[in-house]
Parts: sequence; C-alpha cells; structure tokens
Amino acid sequence: MPGDSFSYSRLQTFSHCPAQYRFHYLEDLAQTATSIESFLGSRLHEALEWLYRERLAGRSVPFDGLLKVYRSQWAQHWSGQIRIADPAWQTDDYYQLGLRSLAGFYRRHRPFDQPVTNTELVLKFDLDGDGHYLMIGVLDRLDNHGPGWWSIHDYKSGRRILTQAQANQDLQMKIYYLALLKTQEQVERVDVVWDFLRHGREVAIDRVDWSPSRITTMIKKRIDRVREAEAQPELLRPKESILCNWCYYWEACPAKLGQTHPARAAQ
Ligand code: SF4
Repeated sequence: MPGDSFSYSRLQTFSHCPAQYRFHYLEDLAQTATSIESFLGSRLHEALEWLYRERLAGRSVPFDGLLKVYRSQWAQHWSGQIRIADPAWQTDDYYQLGLRSLAGFYRRHRPFDQPVTNTELVLKFDLDGDGHYLMIGVLDRLDNHGPGWWSIHDYKSGRRILTQAQANQDLQMKIYYLALLKTQEQVERVDVVWDFLRHGREVAIDRVDWSPSRITTMIKKRIDRVREAEAQPELLRPKESILCNWCYYWEACPAKLGQTHPARAAQ
C-alpha cells in the first residue's frame, strides 16, 4: 500500500475506475500507450510554463518563440505509443488545435504582465497535521496581487467546459485552495481561474468563500474509502464507461479480456 500522498488525480482515478487505480497506483503498471489528448495537454502546459518563466526572467515572449517551444516539444516527445480514439480526428487536427489554443491565449493575455509568482508549483501539505492524510497539489500557475491576495490558475485543454455552478463544486480547485491555505503565511483573498484553452474562455470565481473544514472532511472521507478498498483488493473492480476508450490498461483489465482497443496509432 502506498504510504505517499494523495492528489486530485489519484482520488479521481479511484472514483472513475477502481481497477485502473489498482494498476496505476498499487501495481505501478505502465500503460501500453498514451492518448493524444493527454499528449497535447502536456505540450500546451509546457509551452505556457515556458512563457511565464521567460516573463519572470524579464525577457520578452514573441509569439514565434512560443510556437517554437510548442513545435520542438511536440517533436521531442512524439512516439509510436500515441493513440487516437476519435475516428473523426487526425494527428494534424490535434496539432492545429494546440496552435489555435496558444494563439488565443497569447491574444487574450499579452503583454503577460500578470503578477505570476510560480508555474507548475508543487504544494505538499498535511490535512490534519498528524501525517495520516498527506496531500499533494500541482498548481499550473499562482499569481500574487498584493499582500495576502492570490489567484490560482488552472489550464484545461479538453473539450469539457465548466459552468459557474460546476466550478463552484470543483474538487481539484478546492484541493489547491486548501494547499494554499496550508502552505502560505498570509492568505486573505483567493480567486480561482480556469482557462479553457481550446474554447478561448475563462471561468473564474473571485474571493472564494469555500469552507476549509468542509473540504477537509470531504477529502478525508474520500481517502478513507480508497484505503478501505486498498485493504480489500476485491473491491478494486473494473468500472466500465466511455473513459475505457482512453485507458491503456486493456491487456491487464479483466473486463476487456480478448477485446481490441478501439483507438488507432497516431501517424
Ligand atoms: S479498461 Fe475501463 S474498466 Fe478496465 S481498467 Fe481501464 S477504465 Fe477500468
């Protein structure tokens, strides 16, 4: 049983499919492939991380420079393991989508004078202070607008966009909010911002009024459920859904025995 930290993705993986959770977090089984959506998401995050790192270093960031990073990271990470599950989309459609996403971001946010303090910031914290509920969060970007005033930014590259009501329920951002409260000395006001890159849209909540104790209780219950299942591996069963088409544990999954994965190799 892993004695390490819980993250949002670990909790979500368990909730989507306990068998996938077992393969990934308990058995450390490598996936046999990677979805192109996940590949594209990583390239966009790298490009935007580069952009703000350059700004933090006081350098200008011409659009050409951003594209160069995107292109070179795409080429550098490309491999024969990338798969496309959507029959209507080709590799170039994803590549162009990435270019459009970056162009839109660049237009919306130049000259990039946001008060960015960190990108890809890893925050580790202890929910109760007794070491029993260790958590980790990786914030895409953290801005500081003045003493105690922060904004947490999360970049989304997928199709799904959150409504304001869904945003207010978002567990991932609540974990990040808690991470900030636990790790920063002065936190007076926190804004949270999701940037839906392919849609060119932001969803934001100013001055979140989430209850830290309620979030803590909710996360602890979810961790308890995961630990209970870890102690009884028979509870870590496959939970089939549309998400199976983006899962690359089919060879290990009892629910997919003898079936061929519908995704094709990206060319
Ligand atoms: S293929 Fe589906 S059921 Fe099997 S591990 Fe993956 S997500 Fe779970």
